[in-house]
Amino acid sequence: MIRSRSPQCPGDVVAERAAVSPDEVRALAARSRTAQAGWCREGPAGRASALRAAADRLRERADALADLIVREVGKPAGEARAEVDRGAAILDYYAQACYAATGDVLAPSLPAHQPGLLFTERRPRGVAGLVTPWNFPLAIPLWKAAPALATGNAVLLKPSPEALACGEAVAGLFEGLLPSGLLHVVPGGPATGQAVVEASDVVSFTGSAAVGAQVAVAAARAGLPVQAEMGGQNAAVVLPDADLGQTAALLANAAMGYAGQKCTATRRIVVVGDARKFTEALVAAVTSLRFGDPAEASVVAGPVIDAAARERVLDAAGAARASGARLLTGGTGGPTAADDGYYVAPVLIDGLDPAHPVAREETFGPLAAILSVPDLAGAVDLVNDVRYGLVTSVHGHDVGALLDAARRIDTGLIRVNAPTTGVDFHAPFGGEKASSYGPREQGTAALHFYTSVRTVTFAAPPRPH
Ligand code: NAD
Repeated sequence: MIRSRSPQCPGDVVAERAAVSPDEVRALAARSRTAQAGWCREGPAGRASALRAAADRLRERADALADLIVREVGKPAGEARAEVDRGAAILDYYAQACYAATGDVLAPSLPAHQPGLLFTERRPRGVAGLVTPWNFPLAIPLWKAAPALATGNAVLLKPSPEALACGEAVAGLFEGLLPSGLLHVVPGGPATGQAVVEASDVVSFTGSAAVGAQVAVAAARAGLPVQAEMGGQNAAVVLPDADLGQTAALLANAAMGYAGQKCTATRRIVVVGDARKFTEALVAAVTSLRFGDPAEASVVAGPVIDAAARERVLDAAGAARASGARLLTGGTGGPTAADDGYYVAPVLIDGLDPAHPVAREETFGPLAAILSVPDLAGAVDLVNDVRYGLVTSVHGHDVGALLDAARRIDTGLIRVNAPTTGVDFHAPFGGEKASSYGPREQGTAALHFYTSVRTVTFAAPPRPH
């Protein structure tokens, strides 16, 4: 059985289903493949109208779906609502993208007496197998499913067990709008996910680095195109001329908002020069954040997803302290709220050795370390010296230094005077090194990923000389 529970009130079972078995996954994939041929013939107008209708339905259900996100994964209400709005915008964007050009025309290399065309044509790959995490339970399934559908594919979506109800809500958005059998949501754990990977024609995964590596290997073994978006150990570089108060407030949110449960959350704060004043400002900003019931409007962070996640945060804080680092906030254990939810206070660490595992590996929760370096070169070295490479932010005024940092940092996303968190659904998204495998997702990159290019030489019959 797959069971999702509300992290702020674990006795509240949000959804419960039997896991779909690997045999059932294979049968559903076969049905999807049959339906896909019809969907492909539908043309851009039919596909666009289905995606637009799903966007309208999402807007109609916005309040209920935002409440469901709050309840099922403990996302603060304001962020949950923003995720719903983004979901609708994603569907609108890909509805329009159904009309995007599907290829290029090139100069043919035919004999002069033989007119002809040389063109490329992108065609759907077939069944898109999508395996998604729980932390953006609506946006991530949609930013994968919408481009897959827009380009004429069928979809098998395996949502995270922790976000089962939200995954089923995604299926509900498309109900009656697509050919029967084109899209299936298949609840389950690792075995179901593995079966989805193996039964598909193209695979898109988002989740942890450990599982992403397994998915990439399984897809490669089956000869399938795959993209895997995974974790990060994201840094924010604070230059000496950064505005203290504003930057501290921005980083406190980027590190601790939604209890640090974003792949793009700031986990290392690299201060160039004397870090004392900035550290004080950051402690003040973190302690002023409201942690608590995510349904309350002013709360910026609720609980973490489950008991194990809370243990991991407390263990990392304990390991940092045992190594000689100082905990400036949090880490003393125990929930911060009166109920049974998986609450954990935000942990801000100072004086941590950059080589310590807590500085190098992702702890998926409200935990960040302040590291100080003498100059920009030291900051760049530190940022780049981890196995991940998802996103870095750089804060300051000196445009030369900002551009220099942006050029030398090895992450897929660089955000100058903006938080590490935040994703533009119309721009390529992805990281370097262990953060990503395969092509980027979102925007036109997604339209390319879910299609395969063929090159057509079309020559007129030769004319007599
Ligand atoms: P996870 O890796 O535990 O699970 C992700 C999905 O994979 C789930 O649906 C899970 O059931 C499935 N799965 C598990 N084992 C599998 C297997 N052997 N084969 C196929 N599927 C399998 O991740 P999570 O805990 O749901 O999410 C948190 C992680 O996701 C963090 O590491 C975070 O950084 C990352 N994340 C990355 C991005 C990004 O875009 N880079 C976005 C959001 C989250």
